[in-house]
Amino acid sequence: MGDRERNKKRLLELLQAAGTGNAYCADCGAADPDWASYKLGIFICLNCSGVHRNFPDISKVKSVRLDFWDDSIVEFMTHNGNLRVKAKYEARVPAFYYIPQANDCMVLKEQWIRAKYERQEFMADGKTISHPGNREGFLWKRGRDNAQFLRRRFVLLAREGLLKYYTKEEGKDPKAVISIKDLNATFQTEKIGNPHGLQITYRRDGHIRNLFVYHENGKEIVDWFNALRAARLQYLKMALPELPESELVPLITRNYLKQGFMEKTGPKQREPFKKRWFALDPQERRLLYYKNPLDAFELGQVFLGSNEQGYQVFEDLPKGIRGNRWKAGLTIVTPHRRFVFTCPSEKEQREWLESFREVLSSPLTPLNLLAVSTESDCSHR
Ligand SMILES: [Zn+2]
Repeated sequence: MGDRERNKKRLLELLQAAGTGNAYCADCGAADPDWASYKLGIFICLNCSGVHRNFPDISKVKSVRLDFWDDSIVEFMTHNGNLRVKAKYEARVPAFYYIPQANDCMVLKEQWIRAKYERQEFMADGKTISHPGNREGFLWKRGRDNAQFLRRRFVLLAREGLLKYYTKEEGKDPKAVISIKDLNATFQTEKIGNPHGLQITYRRDGHIRNLFVYHENGKEIVDWFNALRAARLQYLKMALPELPESELVPLITRNYLKQGFMEKTGPKQREPFKKRWFALDPQERRLLYYKNPLDAFELGQVFLGSNEQGYQVFEDLPKGIRGNRWKAGLTIVTPHRRFVFTCPSEKEQREWLESFREVLSSPLTPLNLLAVSTESDCSHR
């Protein structure tokens, strides 16, 4: 066996070696990474390797399978590896900081990788990071009644727990004052049609208001996102002082479990099926639906309790009910009524079923119970 083959075999073994963390991308956690930064000593996925290529002074990448590896680099990889390098570059990641996962958008991964290795923000001996408190700046915000993005001044007051935005540059009266208490933020780059697109939601008059914003600079928009998260964590610590930080972190912001178009009929189930955009919020246990994906307010929402409370989801439509254009369907049964949906494909149907089953099979959290006691299970506009 030549050097080339022997070293490739050593590397492939190293990827699976117990206690190294090498079986998952060092930056996004994707399984079976087959690229490596041989300057940092970590194994990463193809996606993340693309980011590493942009700062060759700090990182240099090679393919595990396609490139040539000499003895000394294989040796270096053996002595480092994902867990050891993580301990160095992720020594003190603030609790509020969002650590991206494999299915997150590119701007989150890119800024995480840059913050870690290029700016070295989280090293034990690195420069002290000032915890983001207040923040002020301009974001492009999508107009409520037209698709145009306009420059708006946003002000985050962390201690007061408020986010405000202004339509006039020097205006004194904010267009909206948003309480951090009800705020969520989630990157929605595809839906917004911008690689830095961020969706901010908050409660207004019993409905969920959506704001769609972006900043042309990737660092700026991710900094805004993490500043909002820092303010949220601060609020949660005050509101739920009995809970440890580790239980508060998953509550800071949340992503939708699934989104997409389905068609729905009305409460009598004789009404014509209409195409709507649906978004499933697993934490609040809410299925929200909209006329269009970027609407400011939902048309309606369905609260999803648990199986124990009599909530169930069934594959297919009830007997005698036929959809409009789409055949694949599903039915959600709550203690109060039936909701009948059709999906554009069997793949979509399977994904929705899986997502609903996941939500319905999990018990209500104390936060869910608190929210339920203050409103009914379904509202429509
Ligand atoms: Zn990755």
